[in-house]
Amino acid sequence: MVEKQRGQGSKALHAGYGPLPLDMTQFRSIVPPIIQSAIYPLDSVDQYTRISEGIEPGYHYGRTMNPTVDVLQKRLAALEGGESALATASGMHGVFALTYHLAKVGDEIVTSHMTYGEAYRLFFQLAPERMGIIPRFVENPADLDEWERQITPKTRFVWAETPSNPTLFVTDIARLAEITRAHNVPLIVDSTLATPCLLRPLDLGADIVLQSLTKFICGNGAIVGGAVIGSQEMITDIRRRTLGYIGATMSPFDAWLTLMSMETLPARIAQHCSNAEHVTAFLAQHPRVTRVNYPSLSDHPQHALAKRQMPRGFGGMLSFVVEGGRQAAVKAIETFQMIAIVPSFGTSRTIATHPATHTHDGMAPQEREAAGIYDGLIRLSVGLEDPGDIIDDLDQALNRL
Ligand SMILES: *Cc1c(COP(=O)(O)O)cnc(C)c1O
Repeated sequence: MVEKQRGQGSKALHAGYGPLPLDMTQFRSIVPPIIQSAIYPLDSVDQYTRISEGIEPGYHYGRTMNPTVDVLQKRLAALEGGESALATASGMHGVFALTYHLAKVGDEIVTSHMTYGEAYRLFFQLAPERMGIIPRFVENPADLDEWERQITPKTRFVWAETPSNPTLFVTDIARLAEITRAHNVPLIVDSTLATPCLLRPLDLGADIVLQSLTKFICGNGAIVGGAVIGSQEMITDIRRRTLGYIGATMSPFDAWLTLMSMETLPARIAQHCSNAEHVTAFLAQHPRVTRVNYPSLSDHPQHALAKRQMPRGFGGMLSFVVEGGRQAAVKAIETFQMIAIVPSFGTSRTIATHPATHTHDGMAPQEREAAGIYDGLIRLSVGLEDPGDIIDDLDQALNRL
């Protein structure tokens, strides 16, 4: 290409790169490029509308679309078996976007206490107090009839998290989906703990999946991000109406970091499952541990369902109760040497959290007890270290109690 004789100011802006069309002949790369651009040139004035309405592929503005983010969205949709995906700035923004998009003042939503702490607060505080949306509470989420009883003509969605954080409660998605379908209400499954490697809620009849990419999907703790996976129609609608106004967009760089990490997702998840099984077996026989929550244990309340619904394994997160309540749990966590105290999970490193302090402090103590979040509960996100090293660290800390 012969560069036109332009001034330095113009050269600084235009030389070497022609955005119309994106000149892919200048480079070919196996790794998806980071398109760090918020703005895109249009071929004509009207093209804006055609792109907006999805009649023509393309990009016009970074709040609602970006090519690198799009690669991530397509990859997530493929893994979940969904038509389309929307990446969001955080998992919580996905929760908010769905609530805001599907329900309005006077509408109802149905969920239980077996939900992520902030999602619980969004449903039971923010939604009623700031959005005029009424949450209906399923007291015993194992009872599917109770889910059905809470659905009314005003229900706009049913929300289930499975396995749930931090107690690994498992919801029967296929049966709950039969109920929600009969009432023509969408079922949303927060599948963050399972990832699409272990559970594909859409295959079981759910309508929408929520993922926090911050956890296992990115896996290294480098980014905060979320995704909503569902029908093309719904995702397009959320992108245009909700994201268009609220704008909690994922950045191209965060999408790229997630894409790089996702290349090894199935291999990582297999290792998380295997390591968690080893750790579970160790904890289950330890005299200082009074209870272990992990679905492979035969005393897990939904053991049979979990095995049927997640035949490939149960993921890297577990929780356990130590003898001696809060004081003992805090001491154990603070005595770990390799295992860091981190109020998150789903990382390649093994990390521990005290849910009663870190994630579920917004719940009243009696609500926490009802949800199985005892003061002595420790949440352990089992990482990819050698399982013997994780067990050694747990052992030295528990033996000091
Ligand atoms: C972390 C998490 C969320 C929220 O995701 P962020 O990316 O932290 O905003 C939602 N649901 C579950 C189950 C989570 O673990």
